[in-house]
Amino acid sequence: MRPDSTDTAAAARAASLRELIARYDRAYYQFDAPLVADADYDALFQELQQLEAAHPELRTPDSPTQRVGGRALAAFAPVRHSVPMLSIQTETDTTPAGAIAFDQRVRAKLGLGPHDPPVGYEAELKFDGLAISLRYEDGVLVRGATRGDGETGEDVTQNLRTIRSLPLRLAGAHPPAVLEVRGEVVMKRADFEHYNERQRARSLPTLVNPRNGAAGSIRQLDPNIAAQRPLAFYAYGWGEIRGWAEQPGSQHGMLDALAEFGLPVASQRVHGPGPNALIDFHARIAALRDQLPFDIDGVVYKVDSLALQERLGFRNREPVWAVAHKYPAQERATRVLAIDVQVGRTGKLTPVARLEPVFVGGVTVTNATLHNEDEIRRKDVRVGDTVIVRRAGDVIPEVVGVVLERRTPEVGSPFAMWAWLGGKCPVCGSAIVREEGEVDWRCIGGLYCPAQRKQALLHFASRRAIDIEGLGEKLVDQLVDGGIVRVLPDLYRLGVAKLANLERMANKSASNLVAAIEGSKHTTLARFIYALGIRHVGEATAKDLAQHFCSLDAIMSASVEDLCQVADIGPIVAQSIHTFFEQPHNREVVEQLRAAGVHWSELRSQREGSKPLAGMTFVLTGALPNLTRDEAKARIEASGGKVAGSVSKKTNYVVAGAEAGSKLAKAQELGVPILDEAGLLGLVS
Ligand code: NAD
Repeated sequence: MRPDSTDTAAAARAASLRELIARYDRAYYQFDAPLVADADYDALFQELQQLEAAHPELRTPDSPTQRVGGRALAAFAPVRHSVPMLSIQTETDTTPAGAIAFDQRVRAKLGLGPHDPPVGYEAELKFDGLAISLRYEDGVLVRGATRGDGETGEDVTQNLRTIRSLPLRLAGAHPPAVLEVRGEVVMKRADFEHYNERQRARSLPTLVNPRNGAAGSIRQLDPNIAAQRPLAFYAYGWGEIRGWAEQPGSQHGMLDALAEFGLPVASQRVHGPGPNALIDFHARIAALRDQLPFDIDGVVYKVDSLALQERLGFRNREPVWAVAHKYPAQERATRVLAIDVQVGRTGKLTPVARLEPVFVGGVTVTNATLHNEDEIRRKDVRVGDTVIVRRAGDVIPEVVGVVLERRTPEVGSPFAMWAWLGGKCPVCGSAIVREEGEVDWRCIGGLYCPAQRKQALLHFASRRAIDIEGLGEKLVDQLVDGGIVRVLPDLYRLGVAKLANLERMANKSASNLVAAIEGSKHTTLARFIYALGIRHVGEATAKDLAQHFCSLDAIMSASVEDLCQVADIGPIVAQSIHTFFEQPHNREVVEQLRAAGVHWSELRSQREGSKPLAGMTFVLTGALPNLTRDEAKARIEASGGKVAGSVSKKTNYVVAGAEAGSKLAKAQELGVPILDEAGLLGLVS
């Protein structure tokens, strides 16, 4: 290629980069709504810087490389900074060589030779938030402003006043006449997560990341909104200073002094001679990054001596005496390959984006949560889209937004949970529901759904449910993971031998557990209903149901209207119970439990006029000591029960007397509870 055509290509590329960066800057700085991931933005920015370095004639005054940040919003009163607020040069080499290169540059600029003493440095965190300048006059906070374009920022005093950790008056008896403190407003990760969780639960828009959370809150016209979002502030620098008698002469001394004035200064900082302390700090903070309560995007190295800082001065928009050494980005762009739906332990359905692998927040991420249907629809995430993925701290990676301008015509249709899953749980095929006022869809498979098996078992066995002592989490894990218990009734088929083979399970504890399982067979109707883990059916509702209907069969066959007759049961709970028992597999589980011998005798109704045996079927066999067959039948029917001629799974009780025959054997085979005359009289009395 001839030189002139190279120049033309470089000029064209520089022009298009400038245009792109200007657009991204506007979205990021003015509207706090980034269009691309920072890492992608940084790559474009560096490409432009390199082009301009190679072709200085391309460095136009309006180039983004010559400016800081964005323009101030007209909605706020402008604040002219008496000392400009600058940016920081980014060291592109992320290895220790980055610190060494900085040291070499500084030494060269200061004219130091190899035998001159080392330069002293300070290393600090690079907070990822919003840069702020606070002006204290005679120790009182008079104004707070954003950086804006570095020369003119926005007056956001009212919003800054809502930050609790920010002193409205400096500590100490002799504050300087004027002290402009520079620092960063951040939203702590836990506060960010908490805020977003609350928003999601109410189906309201969430914040993209803590940085935007902080920036959006501070550049907010309504201080009440700012006050609702907890923010923090950390000081790392200063602007104008007047009337400070004993101003320290070093960066670290200045930060110590700011801390003494009562300003929050992060404790993670070091100072020392030469680049070694910087290299150590970079490594130590990299390991600590996930545990810090707020996001950082790197560390900053600064020449410690203020006299040397002054000698080194500024270049373009950056101080020569400082450099930012960044860490791997916590947000990156990648593509959505598919949207899958995961079923949680409680049946909650969570959509998850399967991603083209991307290195973000220090790990390779292939999945990211999309939280719930509303959240996907609000962000309009579709298969094939380019999205920004965030992973910071130990939090599960999440998709924070779609890069709409990279959407191609081939991307999929908008997500809708019901249509996506054909109305069925992807794990067990049970119906899925989303109740009014809830954000999550759920599988109603409960005890049947393998994804919910452990949770269902633990709930079933819990003390207030069926009450099986000794069946704890570790054991349930082993039973389910080992395929020993697939459905609830399997519990009643466990023998000592099967259990004794399990880890940490001696013969004695196996026998104890088998005895506890056996003992749990005799229960109450209310406990049994509660143990089934029907959504919205807690202990109180289970008791109400038992008292109202008196029999499980009556509850199982009740319509939504019937269920609504029960005091304290509304349409949502009624629908949940009805849908549960509509599922054939749930009925099957119930039948198998009864067949395994789970039974109850608490059938007396509390309601006046109701019949204790309503909905129950009895079979009589053999000769009872006192009652004739007909008398027994009459007693049962008077109490609302029915008497059938043969034993089936549906039989609730077999009443057996002397010389009972095949019906008794059948009852034993099916696990139908057997009563004697006294037992029957106990029920009807
Ligand atoms: P910068 O964030 O890289 O560095 C300068 C800023 O660092 C200062 O203004 C200050 O606020 C902050 N800082 C934090 N800790 C500090 C400390 N201890 N000492 C001194 N300063 C400290 O530069 P920038 O000019 O603010 O903005 C560039 C950043 O914004 C880049 O990370 C870039 O990716 C991002 N950006 C992204 C988009 C986008 O569309 N995604 C657009 C524009 C800018």
